[in-house]
Amino acid sequence: MITPPLGREMDTSRQPCGYSPGDTDADTCMRPATWHIAWDVAMENGLACDEHMASAKKFAYVDRHPVGADCSMPGSAWFFEEQRCGYPDEAPVLQLAEALTVPTKEPK
Ligand SMILES: [Zn+2]
Ligand SMILES: [Zn+2]
Repeated sequence: MITPPLGREMDTSRQPCGYSPGDTDADTCMRPATWHIAWDVAMENGLACDEHMASAKKFAYVDRHPVGADCSMPGSAWFFEEQRCGYPDEAPVLQLAEALTVPTKEPK
């Protein structure tokens, strides 16, 4: 199994292909990515255009799916079964809102 070179942290908000042979800004592909790749179970992930997805296939990866609007966005989660990224249920936020609006009764 070949581990991919993960390289540096990139600004992925515009979803560029992160292929970067020398791991510098100057040689990064930066074309719009078409694939979102999960490299390992710790959810290290990367973005690749069609051309570089082809070369990324020589590395071991956990999962991949076509890039969507929520890919690589802060707080988004990887949904394996749905083959996309998105935001999990916002239950913790709702619970917090309830806790703030429902007055808690002091135990007597
Ligand atoms: Zn590329
Ligand atoms: Zn994704």
